[in-house]
Amino acid sequence: MDDCCQQTPLFTFGVIADIQYADIDDGFNYSKTRKRYYRSSLELLRNARESWSESAVKPQFILQLGDIIDGFNKEHNASQQALDSVLRELSSSPVEVHHVWGNHEFYNFSRSVLLRSKLNSTLHVDRSFTGAQAGGEIYAYHFSPFPGFRFVVLDAYDVSLLGREESSEQYATALKLIKLYNSNEDLNCPPGKAVAEGGLRERIPELGAHGVEGPASQSGQFGVWDGEEVAVGGSERVRSQEFTEVNRSQVMEGFEVRWSLEQRFTKFNGGFSKDQLDWLDSVLSSADEKGEKVTIVSHLPVHPDSTDPICLAWNHDELLDIIRSHFSVVCFMAGHDHDGGYTRDKQTGVHHLTLEGVIETPPCSNAFGTVSVYEDRMVLKGKGRITDRVFLFP
Ligand SMILES: [Zn+2]
Repeated sequence: MDDCCQQTPLFTFGVIADIQYADIDDGFNYSKTRKRYYRSSLELLRNARESWSESAVKPQFILQLGDIIDGFNKEHNASQQALDSVLRELSSSPVEVHHVWGNHEFYNFSRSVLLRSKLNSTLHVDRSFTGAQAGGEIYAYHFSPFPGFRFVVLDAYDVSLLGREESSEQYATALKLIKLYNSNEDLNCPPGKAVAEGGLRERIPELGAHGVEGPASQSGQFGVWDGEEVAVGGSERVRSQEFTEVNRSQVMEGFEVRWSLEQRFTKFNGGFSKDQLDWLDSVLSSADEKGEKVTIVSHLPVHPDSTDPICLAWNHDELLDIIRSHFSVVCFMAGHDHDGGYTRDKQTGVHHLTLEGVIETPPCSNAFGTVSVYEDRMVLKGKGRITDRVFLFP
């Protein structure tokens, strides 16, 4: 163990992502590569809460990184009931919880309902957020749990086809943007870029046998999508490992198989408005001046090396540019990609962590972490399939 871990941390906090609870039987993602444990996710949340309650150094707060209940609840008219179940579990510990909103929040509730709900942490956490919110209907705010440290919660579905009224400016912007890149009838189906002369499917028929192929479009392109959840409005777990492997092993002479970052332009993702970006920029300028260390959290990852590109925020590059223009940022945490990921930005040394999702974690395992914060680093102690990591501050 590193020497630092023997010291008492300044403070600690818990992290958990993609609980996606629903009182339904286990299922699979569309490509049958990942099992989803809808009921068990509540038990795994209980394991996390008990572990945090029993730890010698109690976490000061919990970061819940979004998708707390699954979109299937909507189909079963069980959205509020499922939300009550997970919140009851969390509230049995007195620790404050900061909720991030993901796509599944919007499959279950409208933005206006969410803003008034218990998932709006600015209403229910015992501290003042006066002057600390992005304003309007954007669910973004910042708080300082300890002198010299600041956390920023971002709204990755600010510009989105989810949760915004069709008459809203944000919806119109989202539709225009997504249509620029995605010509599929079903916008949950990503714009596959596996294009080859004459159509890839005829040339590499084995691709179809892997069951990851989406509806072929007239243009000869094809994509993959998670049909299991399309019925309730979308899903993020679209990438198939087999698909990538097939691509690697079956690239033939004269065929370029390229999956680009454009895959992120699907309905189950979203982006940050200019208002939110400007607000973040000013929050970080102030943190720079005060010499604070900032951790940003969002449901959608923004660094292409920290996730499958299909899970990236639409304007991840603009967010990265802002982070790179401020020296106060030390870490960015996200969920959404249930397989998780991590990278350290080469340019800035900022850590980008994508946390593994509870929903695809077997009942015999776990998926949560406790982060101990020191003057010069944060130490993530993971449980189950979450890897231990040390984030040295840049
Ligand atoms: Zn998600």
